[in-house]
Amino acid sequence: MKGVIFDIKRLALHDGPGIRQTVFLKGCPLNCHWCHNPESRSKRIICTKVREVINGVSVEDIETIGREISVVDLMTSILRDRILYEESGGGVTFSGGEPLMQPGFLLQMLQQCHKQDIHTCVDTSGYVPWKTLEKIAPFTDLFLYDLKHPDNEKHLYYTGVGNTKIVKNLYLLDSMNKDIWIRIPNIPTINDDEADLLKFLVILAKLNNKPRISLLPYHKLGSHKYAHFQMPNHTMQDIEEPVKESMATAKHFFEDEGYYVTIGG
Ligand code: SF4
Repeated sequence: MKGVIFDIKRLALHDGPGIRQTVFLKGCPLNCHWCHNPESRSKRIICTKVREVINGVSVEDIETIGREISVVDLMTSILRDRILYEESGGGVTFSGGEPLMQPGFLLQMLQQCHKQDIHTCVDTSGYVPWKTLEKIAPFTDLFLYDLKHPDNEKHLYYTGVGNTKIVKNLYLLDSMNKDIWIRIPNIPTINDDEADLLKFLVILAKLNNKPRISLLPYHKLGSHKYAHFQMPNHTMQDIEEPVKESMATAKHFFEDEGYYVTIGG
């Protein structure tokens, strides 16, 4: 079986415990205004016009985004770093996009990793059919689970989908006692005021197991990609990256409720 990926990052330190290899699968059902990997959203390999400025001259070129890879070839890549996983308590992380957009390929990869005793982590938006999540859960050691906005209407506005299914799937995974790290992007004026933080807490308080929380500061590093790939952009220009003080405030907010919180992955 083959899957479509758009990147492999070796020596990743922020996508789960230890040193990891992170595999980025193509395809995502969301359309987050702040997405810094817009080229990942289409499930297909795409050849797209890109625009670069060389010596002050705007030049157009064609760039291919994504490539097919077989389970066997991807396992060969993953196994190259086995010693690093063993020594650091790391493993492999499947990210995206939304890795569950390629459920058959992901399942096979997770099963192969488990056969090789490699720690597996799936980084998901949670916006997938429960049956799909349920199938991969036995072979996933850790979920990095995004909660992007606690309010259903605002989640719909900012990502293109509501959060009802996402929250429901989170509770179902929790009921299986899966290891879950919650990832919350911290985006000034969008989801970072006290009312929003309180609503996040209401969602989290219903979990049986207290998850670790990673607060991910919004950044503009991917914003140039929209122009580069000539893709339509949402109006995030006026949104600033969060200052250290507001990140610390959010961190303390959750810590005061007994959560272990990190800033960044
Ligand atoms: S879930 Fe991630 S990859 Fe998908 S649109 Fe949102 S930020 Fe981009």
